[in-house]
Amino acid sequence: MENSSSFNAKHRSNTIKNASSSLYDLIVIGGGITGAGILLDASSRGLKTLLVEKSDFASGTSSRSTKLIHGGLRYLKNLEFRIVRETGRERTILYKNAPHLVIPEKLLIPLTKKGNYKKWQLSWALKIYDLLAGVKGIDKRKMHNKETTLNKEPLLNSLDLIGAGVYAEYRTDDARLTLEIIKTALNYNGTAINYSEVTDLKKHNNIFHVNCSNKLTGEQFVIKAKSIINATGPWVDDLCKIDQIESIDKICLSKGIHIVLNKEKIPINHSIYFEVEDGRLCFVIPRDKVVYIGTTDTAYTGNKNEPNINNNDINYLINAINNTFNINKINKTDIISSWSGLRPLIKKEGLNTKELSRKDEISISKSGMITIAGGKLTGYRIMAKKIVDLICKKHNIKKRCISDTIIINGGEFKNLDYEHFKTNISNQLKELKIDSYNSSYLMSNYGNQSNSILEIYKNNNFNHLVEAEVVFCLNNESLYNALDFFLRRTGKIFFYPEIVLKELEIVMPYFIKYLSIDNNEADQMKENVKNYLKKLTNFSE
Ligand code: FAD
Repeated sequence: MENSSSFNAKHRSNTIKNASSSLYDLIVIGGGITGAGILLDASSRGLKTLLVEKSDFASGTSSRSTKLIHGGLRYLKNLEFRIVRETGRERTILYKNAPHLVIPEKLLIPLTKKGNYKKWQLSWALKIYDLLAGVKGIDKRKMHNKETTLNKEPLLNSLDLIGAGVYAEYRTDDARLTLEIIKTALNYNGTAINYSEVTDLKKHNNIFHVNCSNKLTGEQFVIKAKSIINATGPWVDDLCKIDQIESIDKICLSKGIHIVLNKEKIPINHSIYFEVEDGRLCFVIPRDKVVYIGTTDTAYTGNKNEPNINNNDINYLINAINNTFNINKINKTDIISSWSGLRPLIKKEGLNTKELSRKDEISISKSGMITIAGGKLTGYRIMAKKIVDLICKKHNIKKRCISDTIIINGGEFKNLDYEHFKTNISNQLKELKIDSYNSSYLMSNYGNQSNSILEIYKNNNFNHLVEAEVVFCLNNESLYNALDFFLRRTGKIFFYPEIVLKELEIVMPYFIKYLSIDNNEADQMKENVKNYLKKLTNFSE
């Protein structure tokens, strides 16, 4: 049985060799949350499944979201009750199966005189939302008058404020969630290979032959399967073009950016979901020592790999914050990092990106390739179930979906509950006199694997915990460069950018040793991190 050791950086060539000589039931193209969910569902039903990703896992939209597991309050406005109920249920399942990655978070929605919502409307909307999502007990929505709202959030502009609603959602780390779902699938004989781009595909005798380019060596390899899924998010149309002669334009892209500030600039107590002058809603979300703010929604046609952030995007969010909070006005120089992501939305004649539904849609091409586009992080499991049900029906496989019962890697705490496990990690950090890390960071990134990282630290007499963290990732997380470590394995480049340069010097020897790279390659790897750091606060006109 394959286990997470196939994610050891040293085992890559073997994994590719095995994949090239196998016939799979299913190949999933795209290693974002959608592909990850399909890999886990299919593998856990016993289908021999391979996932290929052209860059790092979650390098597309699945590391660039608002990082909320939410029931989608906005769907209620469009009377899409089914989606609210479905995503609400999914929230509960994910919290049960991945308590380390899904952290309860109360959201406060301020009501203002000029706003689009009356108090009774918000009160009813949140009540219906709670009902549909099955929210119980102290998590049920609460409505506050102006005075209580200001007691809770003294920084809100008091002039137009009339009160607020508070309701329950969950926070996550989208990239870690995607990676841990993929790692969970390895325990069910699933296989996943990052840095492998699908460049061509053909069908002979009912078998798909898929050409891949190994992006780390430039070598080509072919993988074969009875069925293939196109789960490439913003790239779904490109894959359809590879699959068929005629071009297909199913989706349009909407760009959403986020900016990160030190929390002292907006020292709020809750996550706040507030209305902007144009009637849209934006989030400001505290996370450890920072807050992040998002998002925008603008049509996008540029480079999909690294969607740009321009001054208009930045000004939109800065104005939104300055108009909502009674704070020292923030400006561009206060931004410590940022990210930009693309929503793949199903096109509909006459509607702009803000009006398009976030629903997922499945289509099947003439060759039989199944494409899934749209959707949300939160609904990944149910999207995967729909796809794998379809495959099982097609091949007459009678295997029921069990993904609602599978604990996501890192989320098993044996006889301890999550909080006790976390206290245990906190005590170990104290004993080891490590004050540069806290247990919340370790637990929300690695869950029970935090213990393995501390073991590596102790057994090797390391001076810095980041040495143990990088060794753990090189051994278990298909990690091939320092940028991926700071971006998607740890999130440090977004949320702790000030420590990245120092830690880069500490972790580089491990990349050199594990990946057997020469000085030039190591210098290039360091340069990539430094350039990315610069880009976080450098915006185009
Ligand atoms: P992606 O994550 O983009 O994955 C597709 C993958 O396919 C990429 O990694 C890409 O590299 C790979 N790929 C492309 N071409 C090839 C090829 N030829 N060969 C191999 N691989 C290939 N949802 C929520 O639930 N909560 C939120 O808070 C939330 N906030 C959002 C905020 C923003 C700004 C945006 C843009 C979206 C947000 N979403 C949110 C939606 C959610 O992030 C997306 O629905 C989800 O991440 C899409 O995942 P995906 O796997 O379909 O696409």
